[in-house]
Amino acid sequence: MIIAVASGKGGTGKTTIATNLALSLGKVKLLDCDVEEPNSYLFIKPKIEKTYPVYIPVPKINPEKCTLCGRCQEVCAYNAIAVVKDKVLAFDDLCHGCGACSYLCPEAAIAEVNKKIGIIEIGKREKLEFIDGKLDIGQAMAPPIIREIKKQINPEDVTIIDAPPGTSCPVIESAEGSDFVILVTEPTPFGLNDLKLAVETFRKLKIPFGVVINRSNLGDKKTLDYCDKENIEILLEIPFDKKIAASYSAGELIIEAQPKYKEKFINLFEKIKKKKRRDNEKS
Ligand code: SF4
Ligand code: SF4
Repeated sequence: MIIAVASGKGGTGKTTIATNLALSLGKVKLLDCDVEEPNSYLFIKPKIEKTYPVYIPVPKINPEKCTLCGRCQEVCAYNAIAVVKDKVLAFDDLCHGCGACSYLCPEAAIAEVNKKIGIIEIGKREKLEFIDGKLDIGQAMAPPIIREIKKQINPEDVTIIDAPPGTSCPVIESAEGSDFVILVTEPTPFGLNDLKLAVETFRKLKIPFGVVINRSNLGDKKTLDYCDKENIEILLEIPFDKKIAASYSAGELIIEAQPKYKEKFINLFEKIKKKKRRDNEKS
């Protein structure tokens, strides 16, 4: 079972839900795919056992072979290569390492060279296996690192994915292939607006989802009304609590500060399992 934890915007408590759920379940894999700002490790405090770099292949032009035909520029979907006057310019920062330009260059004038974009870290905390990725400063290509993290998924295991916030490419890359998505939101107008965008995205991706409302006693009732109208299940509500806020600031998990929450997170998982089973029976 693969469960992605996502949110339409940052700051809703997505990592809090992912880390507390993972540690409540014990024997799971926790993948932090928020590679631009990974912070699950701050709460899990894993013992890192292995680190390795991630590279993408970027083009290197051989001007002696290049005839300036323009084919590479035509095939690059990311505007990462341009033919100007008497040379070809490659913009490594825009390059996704797809290899199309070198494959399709009629003169075999493009070689591929590896460019480091970040690292993967693999560690443990008791039975929990922890994997995260960190994008190097100044790099913008999150999806290749996310793909590398996701190579650690074994369909036999329970895997929790802490996805990046928002609804852009890295979120889709992180959640694709998941059995279920937990959408974390807060009951504010901004929270609701971003929840709607996330709902739209996951409906398009056809991945079943449910909602967790964080700081549920603050804000208004509009999120509840929206979920009711859209027939979206509220899986868990976590009210604002000074003790929880203080534990978060100290890098502690909710289940450490308030052990009664462990059962709530286990119930959350059971609810998702039941919901999945019901969906499978229907289809
Ligand atoms: S496709 Fe090859 S030959 Fe044509 S402009 Fe690009 S590098 Fe030069
Ligand atoms: S490898 Fe792909 S993304 Fe990079 S420059 Fe070539 S075609 Fe563009």
